[in-house]
Parts: sequence; structure tokens; C-alpha cells
Amino acid sequence: MVLSSDVDFDVIVIGAGVAGCVTAYQLAAAGHSVLLVERGPKAGSKNLSGGVLYCRVMEQVFPGFLTEAPIERRVTRNCLSFLSPTSFVNVDYRDERLAEPVNAVTVLRAKLDAWLADKCEAAGATVMPGVKVDSLLTKAGRVTGIKAGEDELRAHVVVAADGVNSFICRDAGIRAPEPTKHLAVGVKSVIGLPRAVIEERFNLTGDEGAAYAVVGDCTNGVAGGGFMYTNLDSISIGVVLRLDDLVRRGETSSDLHDRFLGHPAITPFIKGGELLEYGCHMVAEGGKAMVHDLTRDSLVVVGDAAGLGLNTGFTVRGMDLAAGSAIAAAKAIDAALRKGDVSQASLNAYPAELARTFVGHDLDTYAKAPRFLENPRMYWDYGRLLSDVMYGVYNLDTRPRKHLLGTVMAARKKSSLGIVRLAKDALAAVRAM
Ligand SMILES: Cc1cc2nc3c(=O)[nH]c(=O)nc-3n(C[C@H](O)[C@H](O)[C@H](O)COP(=O)(O)OP(=O)(O)OC[C@H]3O[C@@H](n4cnc5c(N)ncnc54)[C@H](O)[C@@H]3O)c2cc1C
Repeated sequence: MVLSSDVDFDVIVIGAGVAGCVTAYQLAAAGHSVLLVERGPKAGSKNLSGGVLYCRVMEQVFPGFLTEAPIERRVTRNCLSFLSPTSFVNVDYRDERLAEPVNAVTVLRAKLDAWLADKCEAAGATVMPGVKVDSLLTKAGRVTGIKAGEDELRAHVVVAADGVNSFICRDAGIRAPEPTKHLAVGVKSVIGLPRAVIEERFNLTGDEGAAYAVVGDCTNGVAGGGFMYTNLDSISIGVVLRLDDLVRRGETSSDLHDRFLGHPAITPFIKGGELLEYGCHMVAEGGKAMVHDLTRDSLVVVGDAAGLGLNTGFTVRGMDLAAGSAIAAAKAIDAALRKGDVSQASLNAYPAELARTFVGHDLDTYAKAPRFLENPRMYWDYGRLLSDVMYGVYNLDTRPRKHLLGTVMAARKKSSLGIVRLAKDALAAVRAM
């Protein structure tokens, strides 16, 4: 396919989130003319993440990322927590090896995305905030540019980085409306607290950070969980709830968010804090099953728009996958532009490359995770079982003690969990995780 001479830019990127900015930055740095369009008044103003960024991939694109970028804390404590109405059982994992090299950091998107957009501008990209792309321009079935209001702009390649609801992918016939079981709704608050208070409450020193993944009573049985991440002088806290289960159970996401923040085990962490931000956003949770075509003639899809999200129960990931897809996409687009062929066949170097990276491999590894996380016992019965076992161990009520196995069996009997069911769930967990 010969490149048209009637273009305004080599590449137009739609959406200045992580995926869009990382794609635009690399292509601009490689010498291509790039337009990055963002519907929000500023990059990051429309974006919302829990906030744990597995950041090693960012160092590949921006050497010095950890010292230059507006990161909050280095995550050295990961807690997997089970919440029941009366208890809070934590697997609290702190490891100095997570600090060197740094594995994960907490971020606030308003700051991170603005920094990324500045990087794009410094690399030579034109950043255009406050512009909502309405549709793609096409000619003989090939994408030729974008339409925003009355304005039309043309490019050799258009990159859809417009997030989980990607209207651009629908416009291109790549995705139908996503089944609700592939989507979750996230509701998040950012609560401001003095730095010293956060460090004392979460047992942290310096710029160390903690990340809690919580299941159980916070969602009142709805598939999903709570999260609580420490920033420098604020806490990001909220819930992520699978959309189909939320609707089936007739719950509302804002009520479950409030229920989590109001739980007696959680309120001490945020007591006295000031609400700085509150927002709601969709989350891509379908894993590999949600990934659709990634290319068309002159069109490439990256990040959430491509369905690249992974929830394993331990970690919620999207930003690192967005960056990983952007690296693979930019490499393929650069090569396609240099050889003057932006056909789908040429751009398919991108999905081939993506499959070789950690993104493709992790999607394969956790392909069964979404199905496993549909198990309703994960959100109710197992937390209660664990809570009853711990109660049996610590509640020394002057009656004769049982061995641990006897305590576990007594707790299991009280629950509705049969031994065969437990064994099957354990096997499914091993296979999915
Ligand atoms: C509550 C919650 C918690 C999460 N927690 C984590 C976490 O801890 N760690 C993690 O890695 N991931 C997390 N995620 C997922 C993560 O936020 C996403 O995977 C990530 O933001 C995807 O980046 P993206 O650039 O693909 O899309 P987005 O960040 O959604 O960016 C898309 C951009 O496109 C713009 N846009 C959309 N339509 C148009 C249009 N028509 N014209 C112009 N611009 C447009 C939007 O304004 C936006 O700026 C969480 C998500 C939520 C909602």
C-alpha cells in the first residue's frame, strides 16, 4: 500500500493515557510527525486507576523514569486481605527485594499522564487536549484520519488508545459492545492525610508504599474486591466490581464503595482524612478473551482499547500492559512507515511482536483467571472460613483446644463448603494462577 501525500501527520494517536502517550512519545522520538489528541482538558484529567504501576516497562521507554516521573511511593508491602463483618485477615508480604530494583510504584494519573504528555511534546509530538474524536475517516475501507466536530485530520496511521470503552474500535468494526462479564466498574476515592500519619498507620518508612488487595465483606458478595494504596500524602482506596454480578445482585457500586470505606477494619486507616478526589471508571477484566483484532489497514489499537487488562485477584494490571502494547505497536508502526506500507498485513508485525513480550505471555498464563474469579465462593465463603479458623486459633475460651486440623475441620463444617468442593476450587486456583 503506497503512502498518500495528502496527510497532516504521519501518525494520529487518539487518547493521552499511558498507552497513547507511550506510543506517541516513541514515534515522535523516532522522527515521525505525531499528533496526540485527548478529549479531556488536560492529559490525565479524565483518567482513573487504582494506582499501582508495575514500572519496569516504563524504565525501558524513559530511562530515569523513577527519578524523573511524578511517582508517589515504591511498593514494598503487598497485603492480601480477607474481610468479614467482624474480622480482617491479612497475608502481609513485605520484601526489600521489591525495592531494588523497584518493581511497582503508586501513581496518581492526573500527575503521571500530564508528565507523559510533556515528554511527548518534548520529543516533538503535537499534543492537542480538549478535542474529542467523533469518528474515523475512511476511504475505500482504509482508515485515513479522524473527524472531531467539523475538523478533519489525515494521517498514514491512526492509533486507537481511547480506553476501555473504545468507540473508535466500534467505529472500525473491531469490537461490538463488550459482554458485561468482561467489564468491571471501579469506584475510587483519594483521601488526603499527612505523610507522617500514613507512614505510621501503614508501617512504612521513607518513600516505601503499601498495596492492599481485599476480598470479602467489602463487596457484599459481588464478584470483585477492594483496594487501598498509599501515596505520599494521600490514600487511593476503592472497589472494583464485576458488572454482570453487580447488576444480578441489584447492588450499586457507590454503596459498595461506601460500605468498604465504612468497614470498622478500614476506617482507622483513613480516619481524619480529607476527600480529594472521587471517581468511577470501567475496568477491562476479560483477560485474553477480551482481546480483539489489533490492526486494520492504517489502524492500530493499544492498551485498554485493545482489551489488555489482567485481574488475578492478587494484582490489577492495565497500565504496564498498556505501555507494553505501546512499545510493540510503535516498533511496528515505525517499520511500516519506513518501508512505506501501512497495510494491515504490514502492521500485523505488532500483534506478532506483542505475543513475544511479557504482555502476550502473561495473557496466556492467566487466561483462566477471569473464569476462576467468577466463582462466588471467592467473595464470601473462603473469607468467612479463614476468619473462623483464625477465631478458633486465637479465641482461648477455657474450653479444651483442638489441633489446627480439628479447628479447620470445625470451621469447614460450619460453612457450606464440602471437602470435594474445596479440593476442586484449590485445583482450579492452581491452574488459573
Ligand atoms: C478503579 C480502577 C483501578 C485500577 N487499578 C489499576 C492498578 O492499580 N494498576 C494498573 O496497572 N491498572 C489499573 N487499572 C487499569 C488501568 O487504569 C488501565 O488499564 C489503564 O488506564 C489503561 O490505559 P490506556 O492508556 O489504555 O487507557 P486510558 O487510561 O483509559 O486512557 C484513554 C484516554 O483516551 C481518552 N479518550 C477516550 N475517548 C476519546 C476520544 N473519542 N477522543 C479523544 N480522547 C479520547 C481518554 O480521555 C483517556 O485520556 C485500574 C482501573 C480502574 C478503573
